Amino acid sequence: MALTKIQTTTGTATPAELGRTLVHEHVLVGFPGWELDAKAPKFKRAEAMARAVDQMQELRGHGVGTFVDPCPMDLGRDAVFLAELSQKSGMRIICTTGAYFEAEGNTYTFRHLPIEEITAIYVQEIEQGIGETGIKAGAIKIATGAPTVSAYERKLVTAAARAAKITGVPLISHTQDACCGHDQIDMVTGEGVPADQLLVGHSDGRDDFDYQQSLAARGAYVGFDRFGISLFQPDEVRVKNVLKLAAAGHLERVLMSHDSIMCWLGRPVPYANTFEAMLDMLPEWRSTHIFKKIVPMLREGGMSEREVETILVDNPRRLFAAGLAH
Ligand SMILES: [Zn+2]
Repeated sequence: MALTKIQTTTGTATPAELGRTLVHEHVLVGFPGWELDAKAPKFKRAEAMARAVDQMQELRGHGVGTFVDPCPMDLGRDAVFLAELSQKSGMRIICTTGAYFEAEGNTYTFRHLPIEEITAIYVQEIEQGIGETGIKAGAIKIATGAPTVSAYERKLVTAAARAAKITGVPLISHTQDACCGHDQIDMVTGEGVPADQLLVGHSDGRDDFDYQQSLAARGAYVGFDRFGISLFQPDEVRVKNVLKLAAAGHLERVLMSHDSIMCWLGRPVPYANTFEAMLDMLPEWRSTHIFKKIVPMLREGGMSEREVETILVDNPRRLFAAGLAH
């Protein structure tokens, strides 16, 4: 049965309680196998927690009420860490069930489990909780590679759509090279889940307004969720396309975030040999960047304060409310 409330790592919330929401950020990330890297710096939990608490408090200073961490199960997801962080910082944090795309995920077990079992696993993590923690997932991560969706990814996305249909939680996606968003919409709606229960993530990975507009036209949320990652796209291009989407009548389909990471598990190879080096490479890739630099750019481009709040408050609220039972 569909849920009646949004599930956070520390309890439940109503859509109206979310406030300004970052829909795609990370606290901890480690690629599969990170724990095998004996040469990596040791993960210092207390230091990582202190750093994350500081960053959450800075975000609260920017009026952020909810932080969504769609870390896949196979990328170092740590629900206990997130719940403790939420308690210490006062930030509402939502975590996810669901797995990463084939090329970068830990696929062996899920490759061999049938679709019904994977659906049941996702539903259990939403309804009963993750492992023995009692912490419930509040959304499902889906992920596809490029240039096409693999059979493995198709199975997992379909399982996720079925679990979303049962529970009512939203689907938050990863796409590679801003492609296959339409395949994701096809698979999700094919299982009877409306497109507005899906955020097609990383749709800002190419300067392709037609692609972004076509996703919005089908009713899905379009993720401009890598602000600050100048490696993939300059922010000027992201801002230009957000303004164009708004002008084309799709303001209500735009979601903004950074895909930022607070602490790294192991080494962020192949991007850099240390997380510090990666942060030095991307000085604006921080979870506060939208508030410091991007909102002023949008305002300069003619967007009203109210329209900015539509993106930061109303759109996440509608995404998380879409599947709830009334
Ligand atoms: Zn991410």
